[in-house]
Amino acid sequence: MKNIKDYNLDSLKEEFINMGEKPFRAEQVFKWLYEEKVKEFDEMTNLSLALREKLKENYTMCNFNILKKQESSDGTKKYLFDILDGNAIETVLMSYHHGYSLCVSSQVGCKMGCKFCASTGIQFARNLTSGEIVEQILAVEQDNNIRISNIVFMGIGEPLDNYDNVVNAIRIINNQKGINIGARHISISTSGLVPKIYKLAEENIQCTLSISLHATTNEKRSSMMPVNKLYPIEELLKACKDYINKTNRRISFEYALVKDNNDNLEDAKRLVHLLKGMICHVNLIPINKIENGAYTKSSNENIMKFRDYLNDHGIVATIRRELGSDIDAACGQLRRKNLR
Ligand code: SF4
Repeated sequence: MKNIKDYNLDSLKEEFINMGEKPFRAEQVFKWLYEEKVKEFDEMTNLSLALREKLKENYTMCNFNILKKQESSDGTKKYLFDILDGNAIETVLMSYHHGYSLCVSSQVGCKMGCKFCASTGIQFARNLTSGEIVEQILAVEQDNNIRISNIVFMGIGEPLDNYDNVVNAIRIINNQKGINIGARHISISTSGLVPKIYKLAEENIQCTLSISLHATTNEKRSSMMPVNKLYPIEELLKACKDYINKTNRRISFEYALVKDNNDNLEDAKRLVHLLKGMICHVNLIPINKIENGAYTKSSNENIMKFRDYLNDHGIVATIRRELGSDIDAACGQLRRKNLR
């Protein structure tokens, strides 16, 4: 059966026309799904009984079950969802002074194999559908009775490796009649799939692009992120410049500081050289220690020195707040522990 949440408003209107229904019925359904957040077709009381039956016969609502929920002392909540096919995915809710931010997964597992990532031990199973991406937002909003204001595609999976479903999910999230979160409050984080960055620049979606850079030489980056062997730093930054030119959006570069690896002054100098002249921001991440992992966090002193060097040389850099470190909020950790 088809998942009704897989459709953006235009494609749902087409579905309704093909069913012999008026397109405005699709808008009514959208309102029930994303404004009223109902969980059953029978709750859509302004639809005729006959239409509700037709919808029940042809579509599911894909309501996830919560398998596990962990809450950190700083209010971060990590969810493990049963996605109704025997697989489980993670979603993390973070609370900031400006509102709630949700870190969503885009795939079950990941193919990219970044060495610092806890998902690396989880085999790739499949892409999430658009509806399954959207359902993470609805399920967390319902569970907490809140409205989420920011979405980050930074959970399990490489979002640009599931390009069509992620872009379609953004159209649902961004639609004023849908979840209604502004594109500027939606951020896609990628390990650097260069052809997809060029494609995204053409989509006319004003979302923020976040690049997991993490190293300043191809040798070091390839040892941390195998994707770099396919798309080395020079090609990646060329695609980033194209994205900035076409969208006029600032790019955010993620840089996880790893002790005795990429956290010295030489790295900071090279980073300044690489990013010079780009409209960008560097997000320095004190990496969460991964169980059995080879990487450990840099000292606070090194992290601050690194940030200060960038800021002193014209690159805006901030240190990301360590949220949820007491509940293993690095991607993949909750799922891996639970499934053992
Ligand atoms: S960091 Fe992201 S892209 Fe890399 S393996 Fe982990 S989930 Fe995949």
